[in-house]
Amino acid sequence: MNRFTSFTNYVHRVYTTHDGEVYPLPINLGTINQFFHAHYTPAQARELIARQAGELAGTDPQNLNDKGISLIGRPLYEAFIKNYTAKQWQTNPSDLPSGIITRLPVRFTYDNRYFKDTWEGLPTGGYTAWMKRMIDDPRIHVTLGTDFFDDSQPLNKNRLVGKVPVVYTGPIDRYFDYALGELKWRTVDFTEVRYDEGDHFGCPVMNYADPDTPYTRAIEFKNFNPERRDSQNPDRTVVWKERSRFATRLDEPYYPVNTVQDKTLYHAYASRAHQEPGVVFGGRLGTYAYYDMHQVISSALHAYEHQVAPLLAAEPGR
Ligand code: UDP
Repeated sequence: MNRFTSFTNYVHRVYTTHDGEVYPLPINLGTINQFFHAHYTPAQARELIARQAGELAGTDPQNLNDKGISLIGRPLYEAFIKNYTAKQWQTNPSDLPSGIITRLPVRFTYDNRYFKDTWEGLPTGGYTAWMKRMIDDPRIHVTLGTDFFDDSQPLNKNRLVGKVPVVYTGPIDRYFDYALGELKWRTVDFTEVRYDEGDHFGCPVMNYADPDTPYTRAIEFKNFNPERRDSQNPDRTVVWKERSRFATRLDEPYYPVNTVQDKTLYHAYASRAHQEPGVVFGGRLGTYAYYDMHQVISSALHAYEHQVAPLLAAEPGR
């Protein structure tokens, strides 16, 4: 990626509003001490959480509900995870895969870096500038507003599959015209709010942990780019509030729900995908996977090396 963009030194931090108070995430010693009105040391907090999480001690939790309780105990789980998760997924947490919240660890220090990766940052000029540079090559031709499933235009599925290598990154169930049934996805609706003040939240992401706030979280864009402070409007700010719901076929799918039934259905589609001549399925939608950006990049590079390059090498005339 460094060929196409430099990165800022942005570090992701998220706060959450619960019962009229703002707490730091991921759940850390600051969250714990604020929540219990205490001044626990790391060892004392660890001991408390171990006791509260003890109801599931010795088990290997497979679903989000049990995983949440076993990580942080029931009081913190119910305050910060349970209702947010209900809003985000509208699926019983006992039916959701536990992997969703291994993304959200508990820390017995005051470290509230959201991610633990060694390298963190945002593309300096933004994602659009980065993508523009990536496709700026005479061998790359981009056609937008083109429906792969519309036979009345030339770049369609029936005409291309089996003739040229195809990388398909749309929903895998859509590719097969939902022949085996529909995979469940969540989509997100955004509401934009503009404020006549320089900074509304003081952070880029504010989550809402309680059920009486219909939004899951709100994003304040300018706070992703503190390095642009001097060129930002000191008196105005833009916030987007996010609300999640089940996606219909007409919506943009964002998050795979991934219940046990969804996984079984996905595997049935994936084995059909293997039979498709010269088609590589990729991305969140093509592989029904809940990827972060670095995982998207890694899976794309891997797919190129192991699937796309061999197809290109076999192309006549190369
Ligand atoms: N989560 C939660 N409370 C929060 C933040 C996250 O319960 O305040 C849980 C929730 O189940 C969510 C998951 O952790 O779906 C992952 O959330 P994150 O915001 O890290 O992922 P993103 O939505 O950005 O992909």
